[in-house]
Amino acid sequence: MYYPISKPDWDKYKCSVSYTYGQHGTTRHDGIDYCPNNPGNAAVPIIAPMDGYCNQWKDGNGALYSWIVNGNIISNQVHYRELVGGSRQVKAGDVVGIMGMTGNATGVHLHWGVKVNGVFINPDSLNPIFFNSQPSTEMVTLENNLNCTTTNTVSMNVRQTPNTTAPIVDHVAPNTNFTTKIVASGDAVNGNTNWYKYNNGYINQAYVKENPADCSAIQAQLTAEQAKNVDYTTRLNNVHAESNLNPAGQVVV
Ligand SMILES: [Zn+2]
Repeated sequence: MYYPISKPDWDKYKCSVSYTYGQHGTTRHDGIDYCPNNPGNAAVPIIAPMDGYCNQWKDGNGALYSWIVNGNIISNQVHYRELVGGSRQVKAGDVVGIMGMTGNATGVHLHWGVKVNGVFINPDSLNPIFFNSQPSTEMVTLENNLNCTTTNTVSMNVRQTPNTTAPIVDHVAPNTNFTTKIVASGDAVNGNTNWYKYNNGYINQAYVKENPADCSAIQAQLTAEQAKNVDYTTRLNNVHAESNLNPAGQVVV
């Protein structure tokens, strides 16, 4: 789950939380409100916080809505001054509208609510992250778990750093099964510059035999996540392009 405002736009428009989730006296607020510090001059792009089907409509009070539905989760975003793209399938990061104050709003802001299994919850309880070019949480998790089963064919030195001249901190006996992952590029050994993490040091890949099924499956997932991350970056650049335009197509500074 991402915040509905990208990190670059959050910073650019100096956004902040203007009204928190929960009980405010006798008023129940089923979401979080965000607004820029200079609402009158801002055309803040609002993005889809997750993949899903984006339903867009105007209610009887003139409020412009988008509800993005993914399984049992609904992201409710409202008060747009303009909706972007129409009802459609969206990916996280796609621009779905421009922040506004339609409906019963008294100032320009985004109201963001999240429903899980039909009940509004505090969106922050899903630990949203900012949409930017940082690796996705899925990718970080995969990288942290890229532990291939390996066997070394010869006795190996464990070096303090991935360099052939680095101090030796440990040894690995031949034909030891262990799990590890490639974490560094360093000095070449027989032309191989990949080094594994091994306990408190590094071993070169040259004499290590990986369990192909184990490693290739994880590597394939990681490659897919990396490709997705590139896709996020591309779409983030599209957010940037749109963030310089107001709905009339004029540049807003
Ligand atoms: Zn609100």
